[in-house]
Amino acid sequence: MDDCRLCGGKDMELVLDMGEHPIAHHYKEDPAQEEYRHIVGLSFCKQCGHIQLDDPIPAEILYANYICLSSWKFQPHVPQLVNLISRQTSVTKDSLVLEVGSNDGRFLKALEEEGYRNLIGIEPAEDARRSAAEKGVITIPGFFDKQKAWGFVQEHGQCDLFISRQVLEHIKDLNEFMEAMRIVIKPGGLVLIEVPNFMMNLEMFDYTLWEEHVNYFTFDTLNNFFSRTGIVELHREKVVFSGEILVVLGQYIGPEAKETKIDYVAALTKKVEKYKRNWSDFRGRVQTYLLDQRKAGKKIAVYGAGSRTSSFVNFLGLKDYLDCFLDDQVEKQFKYMPGSQLPILPSKALYERSIGVCLLGVNFECEDKVVTNHAEFLRRGGEFYSILPPSHRLPGFWKELLV
Ligand SMILES: [Zn+2]
Repeated sequence: MDDCRLCGGKDMELVLDMGEHPIAHHYKEDPAQEEYRHIVGLSFCKQCGHIQLDDPIPAEILYANYICLSSWKFQPHVPQLVNLISRQTSVTKDSLVLEVGSNDGRFLKALEEEGYRNLIGIEPAEDARRSAAEKGVITIPGFFDKQKAWGFVQEHGQCDLFISRQVLEHIKDLNEFMEAMRIVIKPGGLVLIEVPNFMMNLEMFDYTLWEEHVNYFTFDTLNNFFSRTGIVELHREKVVFSGEILVVLGQYIGPEAKETKIDYVAALTKKVEKYKRNWSDFRGRVQTYLLDQRKAGKKIAVYGAGSRTSSFVNFLGLKDYLDCFLDDQVEKQFKYMPGSQLPILPSKALYERSIGVCLLGVNFECEDKVVTNHAEFLRRGGEFYSILPPSHRLPGFWKELLV
């Protein structure tokens, strides 16, 4: 087990040991194909409360044979974030804005449409940069580290607004990232960070860890990251998007403002202990639920061949209860899921294979669309349930656990 990625502490507790699993998005052409397997373990720092994945997979293995590099097609909260930035009087249309992990430039483009003129992204993925270039968004290639930060400052000066959306949870070396932030942000400049909310997982029995996410933040541990970097928090909100996300706006005061706040650790420890205790019971309940469906003669499919559903099926040991995965993304169809080796089929398989129960594993924002598109499935007596919190379509036994 590594030292804590946030505070360097050595007093780490193992929360979940999921055993050995393949990489969640390494789809297979042939079920017999060999898979890279790794131990999935989640740990908790007793000193600062940071929740993190043990022994992350080397990037060259993890990011090989990627099928889907493009950013999410549907990001309903973007106008909300643009509005939050527009309300900040210290940011003008001429302020220098840097987005780290800017992907295909979609967010910077949204700011440009709002009148912001001085926008630059940093992005390692070539495909994404190409897409950004097509939009006219300036993007510097590479990963964000101290060297990149110095290079940026020499060429452009320090930024007035630093944005990082759905990036921090991937960062193995948080201290390097913090130092790079201190270099690149103007004292008094603003910081907008967006990360998945692990408190939702803790409270809603969501055990779908993902090997790409090595950090699992709550408002408190993200606030601790801010404090350690020299940032004071100005605003926080939760947004439902691909689960639940935290959006936090802060102001960079400088390294002299560094402090460590850990007064939340006792309360967080209780939540984590409960999450740990509930794991095997929850797994048993899901298996029993699916077994009951099978006994009632219903075939079961999972809709959405994503990383969260892949982890859900593998971690909970559900392959023997399921008929297939369904996915509308053509690139995934007729491949096989890692681990469970279940086939990935177009959604018409709902009818062709007489599926009785369809477990939705798509982003919550997209569930209604899937259900509407398959009104015929419902008419034939089919049932939709979700397996991804915070959906209101979770099966009855799951909802009862949340009361
Ligand atoms: Zn720590």
